[in-house]
Amino acid sequence: MQRLREGGVHPSPFTRGEHDGREGSIRHRPILSHAPEARRRHKLEVNDIADLTDQRLAGELFVTNGLPVLERYTAIECLSPDFDAGWQAHGAIDLAVELLATWCADRAIPACTVEVVRLPGRTPLIFAEIAATDGAAHRATTLLYGHFDKQPALGPWNDGLGPFAAVYRGDRLYGRGTADDGYAIFAAFSAIESLAARGVAHGRILVLIEGSEESGSPDLDAYLDHLAPRLGTPGLVICLDSGCVTYDRLWVTTSLRGTIAGTFRVDVLKNGVHSGQAGGIVPSSFRIARRLLSRIEDDATGDLLLEELNAEIPPQRRAEIAQVAENFGMDGAGIFPLVDGLELAGVTAAERIERGTWRPSLAVTAQAGMPDLEAGGNVLRPFTTLKLSIRVPPNVDAARAAAAIAKALTSNPPEGAHVTFDAPHLAQGWDAPPLEAWLGEAVESASLRHFGERPNAIGLGGSIPFMDSLGHRYPKTQFLATGVLGPESNAHGPNEFLHVPTAAAVTCCVADVLAAVR
Ligand SMILES: [Zn+2]
Repeated sequence: MQRLREGGVHPSPFTRGEHDGREGSIRHRPILSHAPEARRRHKLEVNDIADLTDQRLAGELFVTNGLPVLERYTAIECLSPDFDAGWQAHGAIDLAVELLATWCADRAIPACTVEVVRLPGRTPLIFAEIAATDGAAHRATTLLYGHFDKQPALGPWNDGLGPFAAVYRGDRLYGRGTADDGYAIFAAFSAIESLAARGVAHGRILVLIEGSEESGSPDLDAYLDHLAPRLGTPGLVICLDSGCVTYDRLWVTTSLRGTIAGTFRVDVLKNGVHSGQAGGIVPSSFRIARRLLSRIEDDATGDLLLEELNAEIPPQRRAEIAQVAENFGMDGAGIFPLVDGLELAGVTAAERIERGTWRPSLAVTAQAGMPDLEAGGNVLRPFTTLKLSIRVPPNVDAARAAAAIAKALTSNPPEGAHVTFDAPHLAQGWDAPPLEAWLGEAVESASLRHFGERPNAIGLGGSIPFMDSLGHRYPKTQFLATGVLGPESNAHGPNEFLHVPTAAAVTCCVADVLAAVR
């Protein structure tokens, strides 16, 4: 049995860890009132883990060792490069990398090297290699993936909460990046450390935590090329940046939509003019933008109209959607903070899930050319710029779709307006290869053991560019995408939180799957 390194267990807001004198044995006492609830859901009772052979050790290590450092990470404004052009000078990304890599290097994991890899002009990447245990070198390599860069604050947050302050409420740890995707590195290393502590055999394990995911992973391919000789061909990739429909079981993500993020600009004047003089004569740039958007979107239904943005849903994915619709009803499509009386698209649960995972959609996420309310006078503004976030189905070619959108928005602009559409970053969607039997069985038993419920599978509406990149590089590799972005967790929006019991249970499941790799 591997003994935990002296000082390797730190106090956390959930527990006070203390050695009871027996070698390798740790006890914990809850010190916050919500801890028993969190532990009950994680199937842990107070002082339940009497020795390190317990299969739930991974979650215990996540809570005890990982959370205190995740709290410190939450305070760091390590925004993704798209949201912080001066990231190199600001140093927040370096601060986060330093904190995380130091914590990883401090784990009691034999034959583990942790490295911060830096390519010129690119966000750094944390890369770790853990050798196979004795006699297990023939087993396939597993690559664990996550990211440390964050979305911007996007407020306001609820009272007492803020993007860069770690706050516990009930089972939740609030803060930007707690769930997307700060927890991932802690889950990965806690899972591996638990195997070492329990003396469980495993194959070679790689951990790759990147810093440009929220910008569409522009730096990732360069690192995958750079590290190719060390990556080899993984037999299994575990992606820890995905979501879950409920917090009561392990959810496997079977598909992801692609993203086209673009800047759409309409110019009508060289400078603003009194709206009393120009209004009614000079066309409004906002009206022209509206007209042009109607070329790609049905403004009554939100359906996207271009043929290049729509595709058939594969039959096995339809079956998955039907199963989730039947078991989880409308909640299967997500739970949203709706205003009273809001009508959602999709009549049946299946239709609604389909719309969120296999149909395209458009959101206007930012603007330029419009002053704030206090500063805006009666002026016909010279231009309107809108930032568009277009989600496309997993099996749609994102580059072809982007070209079709650009053509529709910019050709023959009405009334001679000047129109541009620029979409520098695309994320291709992803449709998972089927799970091999051993992996399906490992996922099934892990979910039953750590959640007490069978796992479930569904496509998700978000994007993870890494999955398509790796899918192309390693066509025979197995993929397990999972995560903690569940109901109300609100990654990218205000009040993001990590559901701690789910994260701990997912960590245990990761440990079980790592042990099952042959
Ligand atoms: Zn993410």
